[in-house]
Amino acid sequence: MSDTPTTKFTDLGLSEPLLKAVRDKGYETPSPIQAQAIPAVISGRDVMAAAQTGTGKTAGFTLPLLQRLSENKGKKVSPNNVRALILTPTRELAAQISESIEVYGKYLNLHSMVVFGGVKINPQITRLRQGVDVLVATPGRLLDLYNQRAVKFSQLEVFILDEADRMLDMGFIRDIKKLIAVLPRDRQNLLFSATFSPEIRALAKGLVNKPLEISVDAENSTAEKVTQWLTAVDKKRKPAVLTHLIKENNWQQVLVFTKTKHGANKLTKHLEAEGLTAAAIHGNKSQGARTKALAAFKDGSVKILVATDIAARGIDIDLLPQVVNFDLPNVPEDYVHRIGRTARAGNTGQALSLVCADELDLLWGIEHVIQQHIERKVIDKFIPANELGESREIKPLKQGRPPKSKPSQNSGRGRGRVEHKDGQRSGGNANGNNTGRNNTGGGKTKSGNDSSRRKKPEYDGTGPKPRRSIQK
Ligand code: AMP
Repeated sequence: MSDTPTTKFTDLGLSEPLLKAVRDKGYETPSPIQAQAIPAVISGRDVMAAAQTGTGKTAGFTLPLLQRLSENKGKKVSPNNVRALILTPTRELAAQISESIEVYGKYLNLHSMVVFGGVKINPQITRLRQGVDVLVATPGRLLDLYNQRAVKFSQLEVFILDEADRMLDMGFIRDIKKLIAVLPRDRQNLLFSATFSPEIRALAKGLVNKPLEISVDAENSTAEKVTQWLTAVDKKRKPAVLTHLIKENNWQQVLVFTKTKHGANKLTKHLEAEGLTAAAIHGNKSQGARTKALAAFKDGSVKILVATDIAARGIDIDLLPQVVNFDLPNVPEDYVHRIGRTARAGNTGQALSLVCADELDLLWGIEHVIQQHIERKVIDKFIPANELGESREIKPLKQGRPPKSKPSQNSGRGRGRVEHKDGQRSGGNANGNNTGRNNTGGGKTKSGNDSSRRKKPEYDGTGPKPRRSIQK
């Protein structure tokens, strides 16, 4: 997947146990982000990288992190302490990062652990007593653990903030600032974000110290590899069009995005009634149900996975060929994240959007952000009665963060109150676990949890409302 064929993994300063794990994984050349980030992180520098999922960024920070920690193995971690902290917005992403740590670190003797909400806290507290080398966490649960004195940061060497833009979108800024305030000053910082918006730069100011800035132009390169097209369709006929396309083209693995949890459930039922195998993942599903659905989708026993945006965040499936936007997202950047699910690691893919007349302004917003018109195709059997208006002329993006599209008339809400982001509310019986097992738990859904009270769009992996005892 590399654009820099002259760089080899062996050129980057990685130790043999890590190179062996990379070879086992079948990677031949480092991706651009890896080629740049790995030596910088090994040298101890702070790094600020604009790269989104799909660029190989996880290995870009995990490999050098493990290298540094294994070099300093003499430093034994004390009870409740952590040597490296990786903060990430969603449970799925946290689970996947910890899985990567396990894979890349399999020939090293380092201990890692993942913590997120929606599962019992006590097993996490117990496990933390031994201390861990690498802790992967979502912000809310980590604050909870900190407030219960289950985790201490006095031995922290490296702090990694992953998907920082997403963290801000999800309203985690206060939690992040509180956490940063309790970390030791002398530490290495890595910040990853899809974009360097003014908000991210402001956050970076208080975080990174003379960082190496890396940008791998992920969004454009992703967009280039994905064949994007749309078809105009009446809202009511969307399920029929989707079924038609899946059957007609014999699509074997399709990730479908809906705006709401209810929409995801309804569509899944429709597809099943049509004789297709489908499963839904969203915030009302227990962690166990989500993990199960994802596994079935990966092994091919379920062909269609219907997901809301946040639930789908971090899903990493090699060679995912087909993404369908059943509804357009309210936030244009979500479109970029969605289509980034396909064409991963240099593969090509196809992203189709089913667009009804009242989603026109959402389409305008998306086309503005991706700076291109999406090709329109007509499906003869489904010509809409309500015509979809024309695209607008593409104006150049302003510096900084791309503007958000206004909510469409029928989409209900604007960006500040993001209806489609589902509150991650599953409770359950799993525990904070060793990353190797990646036991993300199988819990029941709690009703009346706090997502309705929060302004945060989707409060992922946070469990109980964090106590606000950390003062800046
Ligand atoms: P990430 O951006 O970290 O989510 O990685 C996206 C995908 O690229 C994952 O499936 C990785 O396993 C894969 N990947 C990461 N690094 C490489 C590499 N150097 N060569 C091939 N695939 C890679």
